[in-house]
Amino acid sequence: MKKRTGMFCLLLVVLLVGVAAAQAQPTPITAIKAGRLIDPETGTAATNQVILIEGEKIKAVGPNLAIPAGATVFDLSKLTVLPGLVDAHTHMAITYKEQPENNYYYLTYIMESTPLRAIQAASNGIQLLNSGFTVVRDVGNNALYADAALRQAIEQGWLPGPTVIPSGPMIGSTGGQFWPTPEMYKDHNIMFPEYIDANSPDEIVRAIRENMLFGAKTIKLCIDCKPWGYSVEDIKLAISEAAKGGCKVEGHVQTADGAQRSIDAGIHMIAHGNALTPEHHRQMAEKGIFLAGTDMPFTPYRGNEQAFKRTVANLRDAWEKKVPLTFSTDLDYWNERMKNEKTGEWLTRGDLTIAFLETWKVAGIPQADILRAMTINGYKAADIIKERGPIKPGFYADLIAVTGDPLTDIDALRNVQFVMKNGMVFKKDGVMTPEKFFHPGPVRTPSGRWTR
Ligand SMILES: [Zn+2]
Repeated sequence: MKKRTGMFCLLLVVLLVGVAAAQAQPTPITAIKAGRLIDPETGTAATNQVILIEGEKIKAVGPNLAIPAGATVFDLSKLTVLPGLVDAHTHMAITYKEQPENNYYYLTYIMESTPLRAIQAASNGIQLLNSGFTVVRDVGNNALYADAALRQAIEQGWLPGPTVIPSGPMIGSTGGQFWPTPEMYKDHNIMFPEYIDANSPDEIVRAIRENMLFGAKTIKLCIDCKPWGYSVEDIKLAISEAAKGGCKVEGHVQTADGAQRSIDAGIHMIAHGNALTPEHHRQMAEKGIFLAGTDMPFTPYRGNEQAFKRTVANLRDAWEKKVPLTFSTDLDYWNERMKNEKTGEWLTRGDLTIAFLETWKVAGIPQADILRAMTINGYKAADIIKERGPIKPGFYADLIAVTGDPLTDIDALRNVQFVMKNGMVFKKDGVMTPEKFFHPGPVRTPSGRWTR
């Protein structure tokens, strides 16, 4: 017995020494010398700024800050530093193709498993981070919660990637976006997990609770994917139920009626700008409803001129009416033509995403407003603005740097030289340097399941 007590005491001493050693470890300090530092909120830039980062958060920002001895210093004095970018509507865990599925994404669901699609999402996340996207709203068509798994894997520290705001499966009334045969619908339940059928108030509540239970941080509704879509009352119910789990509601909208019902219910965000009229834009501006226009450019690999003209006109009108605009892509496809025309090299998921700038440029949106849509409005739409995004003390250290000045030439964003995520350097001198992100432990649960 005595021997045991002695062993216990020794163990206790070892543990206490271990704890003391862990506590004595100072949090690493990083200093960034920024030649120019953009504040997208005001559309202005300050020169020769120092950003001090302690661990994963920003500690101080200013022109003459003393850099503590022992700090790791990154000299970006020849670059423009700005907050990370946001794609406010995309789909990282689905890639439908011309071969073998002829762009029919029903086939993708059948042929590609959730694990395979989760790995695609992880790769897409890395490609997006490489292009400066530090936040991604990933809203549906992600098989069995591949989006929520990717968010958790990045938070736990398994791999680098943007902060993912996952929706889980899209919730819709009978059929979702599918038109299946009776056999496929009734005998094979082809709807799930790509869509959750929720027809009555009880089913809507249940579907939202399930998505939140499995990791959704936003709720995506198919407002009018079918003529029997959701009523104003249905949408209001969804908004109040989602709020209980800290989620906001985005509506997929493809008809004028669906848009009006979403606006009347006071939805957080409307996806896809095609069905919206100038009157809808006026009401959205009045109510502060975010628009994820998914404004596809006309390129050699996607789109047509007529559709592009309509997209440009809609985006322009939304901007004129002062709708809170976000930068959004709806990317979920790949084809053989997705190559750089000059070099012949494949375009990455990040390149394909940033290419949507073309629509904003043709619409004549001022550079500062494009940048605001890609940052501040994106953080607000993702509901993370209080802790992540702005380069200010107390916020997570997510930032990027580019050559040139995006406030006078938005295309400078196509050439991201430096990326920091949660205080860790992911890209330096234009090259990915992600080794710090890969480790077998500690496995982090940074903010618990129910907080952001
Ligand atoms: Zn979409």
